[in-house]
Amino acid sequence: DQVSTATAIPRVVHGYGRVPASVARRRLRIVVTGGAGFVGSHLVDKLIARGDDVIVIDNFFTGRKENVVHHFRNPRFELIRHDVVEPILLEVDQIYHLACPASPVHYKYNPIKTIKTNVMGTLNMLGLAKRIGARFLLTSTSEVYGDPLEHPQKETYWGNVNPIGVRSCYDEGKRTAETLAMDYHRGAEVEVRIARIFNTYGPRMCLDDGRVVSNFVAQAIRKQPLTVYGDGKQTRSFQYVSDLVDGLVALMEGEHVGPFNLGNPGEFTMLELAEVVKETIDPSATIEFKPNTADDPHKRKPDIGRAKELLNWEPKISLREGLPRMVSDFRNRILNEDEAKGF
Ligand code: NAD
Ligand code: UDP
Ligand code: UDP
Repeated sequence: DQVSTATAIPRVVHGYGRVPASVARRRLRIVVTGGAGFVGSHLVDKLIARGDDVIVIDNFFTGRKENVVHHFRNPRFELIRHDVVEPILLEVDQIYHLACPASPVHYKYNPIKTIKTNVMGTLNMLGLAKRIGARFLLTSTSEVYGDPLEHPQKETYWGNVNPIGVRSCYDEGKRTAETLAMDYHRGAEVEVRIARIFNTYGPRMCLDDGRVVSNFVAQAIRKQPLTVYGDGKQTRSFQYVSDLVDGLVALMEGEHVGPFNLGNPGEFTMLELAEVVKETIDPSATIEFKPNTADDPHKRKPDIGRAKELLNWEPKISLREGLPRMVSDFRNRILNEDEAKGF
């Protein structure tokens, strides 16, 4: 029942030895809501590899069993089909609360469900954390800064958000989730951690989730034009998923509540991103301009000074290194889709 810490004596001892309790930490029981999704499934991989017990709660709105199927035979892994909008009773040590659609196309599909997930879902997970004394980590978003008037964005910036727009179910939803977390922290002594995640990409992203990296990569592989919205001069900063997962774990294990920006400060216009995708996948790919969506933020780039100093964390993988790592996963899935369609 014990696993060694990173610095401790190796866990496998020849003969019948056991790791002495003094150098071992207790195996943790951890809930990951949204654990069948893109980020959640990579987090689950890391927690399982570390030796902990993981319970995934997911309603499979945007998540897929395929993302976690490789753990099905592992007795330390459990998958519960459950909607976080409904209460649940469990006994665990930590709760990573990720459940919420993240792509604009998905969260605008049923905005009422999105705001319910953010408000009622977060309330239920905080109520659970309070009852059992678990530590609770919220995955908030850079969208809490809205269309920012400060650049780059520091955690102290309060944001420029439209409260009644088509994105509000998500960005105001996450702002309310942050409020709930802080109120349970101050009012009910729940140990909370808040991450503000900036645009993240990698293997297992939904193929057709409408996000710019997944769109461009899938389009380049399918030999379709890359769709640039608006003039393509708006900027984003793209973080590879393993960097984010390392940051989430550092935040959960650390002593600071946050909020912490977790993102890669490398800033690209959408036209520059299209160029990197062309270089990586198909230099002959073409670009097609399309009208932009409402309330689209013009600029986004994290200031990660706080996370560097207090969590000793910073991203390691640049866009040019990270993009090729998602291409083979996308190629395989597009090939499988084509085969299923009989192409
Ligand atoms: P995703 O859509 O791949 O994963 C979300 C998961 O939550 C899915 O498995 C989905 O089925 C599940 N889910 C949604 N509503 C639920 C509900 N009511 N009950 C139970 N499960 C539910 O998205 P992701 O990119 O993995 O994002 C994970 C978290 O990180 C989200 O909270 C998102 O807001 C946050 N985030 C992500 C990014 C990013 O760039 N990927 C950026 C900022 C914040
Ligand atoms: N909750 C839950 N699991 C638990 C404890 C609470 O899902 O183990 C839900 C509970 O149903 C409520 C929410 O979390 O809707 C907030 O709980 P809290 O105890 O803070 O508030 P109360 O139940 O007193 O309104
Ligand atoms: N975008 C684009 N082409 C696409 C999809 C998105 O140019 O096919 C743009 C979009 O207008 C936005 C940026 O890419 O300015 C990032 O969009 P995404 O939906 O990935 O994430 P957001 O940061 O808006 O949540």
